[in-house]
Amino acid sequence: MPIASVNPATGETLETFEPLDAAGLEQRLARAEAAFRTYRTTSYAQRAGLLRRAADLLDQERETVARTMTEEMGKPLTAARAEAAKCAKAMRWYAENAEALLADEHPEPADVADSGAARAYVRYRPVGVVLAVMPWNFPFWQVVRFAAPALMAGNVGLLKHASNVPRTAVALEELFQRAGFPEGCFQTLLIDSGAVEGVIRDPRVAAVTLTGSEPAGRAVAATAADVVKKAVLELGGSDPFVVLPSADLDAAVATAVTARAQNNGQSCIAAKRFIVHTDVYDRFTAAFTEAMRALKVGDPMDEATQVGPLASRQGRDDLAELVDDAREHGARVECGGRRPDGLGTPGLDGGWFYEPTVLSGITPRMRIHHEETFGPVATVYRAADLDEAVALANDTPFGLSSNVWTEDPAEQDRFVRDIQAGGVFFNGMTASHPALPFGGVKRSGFGRELSGHGIREFCNITTVWIA
Ligand code: NAP
Repeated sequence: MPIASVNPATGETLETFEPLDAAGLEQRLARAEAAFRTYRTTSYAQRAGLLRRAADLLDQERETVARTMTEEMGKPLTAARAEAAKCAKAMRWYAENAEALLADEHPEPADVADSGAARAYVRYRPVGVVLAVMPWNFPFWQVVRFAAPALMAGNVGLLKHASNVPRTAVALEELFQRAGFPEGCFQTLLIDSGAVEGVIRDPRVAAVTLTGSEPAGRAVAATAADVVKKAVLELGGSDPFVVLPSADLDAAVATAVTARAQNNGQSCIAAKRFIVHTDVYDRFTAAFTEAMRALKVGDPMDEATQVGPLASRQGRDDLAELVDDAREHGARVECGGRRPDGLGTPGLDGGWFYEPTVLSGITPRMRIHHEETFGPVATVYRAADLDEAVALANDTPFGLSSNVWTEDPAEQDRFVRDIQAGGVFFNGMTASHPALPFGGVKRSGFGRELSGHGIREFCNITTVWIA
């Protein structure tokens, strides 16, 4: 089956690619192994020079890169430009900081003596060829978030990108090649998900990282466990956005809309469940609904568009099913809840659009209470007090991040102590930054990306002990 690039705004097939055959895959695995043998001995300064060159290229070519992403997966062009800029920033951050993050660690002299050594220290060494299985929603960022630290640590990368973003996958390989990384240091494998297991099992592959859905994570982690290889999983999320009475309500509403509708609603760290204290529930819900209804849905290439199409027909249909199920079980549709009639732009009728939607009256009988909504659909819950807000925030199988709006330090402490998530952002929305770790608990996965924690995930933490 060819791998196709399809414009989600129109349904038009842009280009098809032949997947790698067995010989092509073998050639790339051999190249990766050979590349690691020498690349692992390069200095941090050499690697940083290459990564800075990749960042410069990305800045120079931002417009082309952004258009490739928007055409292939439908994010608004303005967001695609911001994504490209964020990738260049992360590359420069790791180019600047990797050496210090991976510097040798020296235990206390008394502990060294107690171990019987004259000298002992810890050295971070690369593990080898790392396979990255990546999703389409931030098609450049997710890959760079893996590749920048991996390459700085001295590892080499193989990318199995989502099947709907082959142009982006090829562009990423070319970017690292043109930046001057030695042949085989970063390669794209145009393969379908059925071929991933064989790559993980290949003895030349040391470890795997996956960003994507829970079923994909389960499959990849099971294979990795079977061959005893390290895996990092960044999976789905259903992040709470809690609003308490001391919040600046106007700011909370404005941020809530951005946090829910960013990337056409298809972000793992999007706020998805809005849990509002009863004292401010009516005001928040009315203003939030109004602002969600006012979002401009349309052609993602149009600078004024705030919400483009969903990336696939299946994604749009899955989202519509979740909303229909909630409606059938008694949820109240505050706004949206359907596909738009027409967008006023010729050619967009075949696109996979869905209206920004707010639902209230959610109960555990509804699928939407437990499942991730990957599109511009928000659920709003009324909480009687702080205890109920904490309980509702944790009442999900996921635990990626969380947002809490309160000016009260005691309430903030309560969430820092009790929230079951990999992050808690007060009076703002969750966003990733190269210096801060990113990842989740529960069924949002395990391991961390970004910061020192991320770069050390794929290092051999080596104990050096000298008598
Ligand atoms: P997906 O269907 O799980 O796909 C992600 C990647 O996994 C793709 O490359 C896909 O390849 C591959 N894959 C799927 N099934 C597989 C299997 N059984 N074995 C091996 N590989 C497999 O997810 P998606 O629809 O692209 O992305 C949406 C999901 O990703 C959401 O749940 C979202 O929350 C999550 N996500 C998480 C983060 C995070 O950092 N935690 C960030 C972004 C997205 P094919 O395309 O060829 O199927």
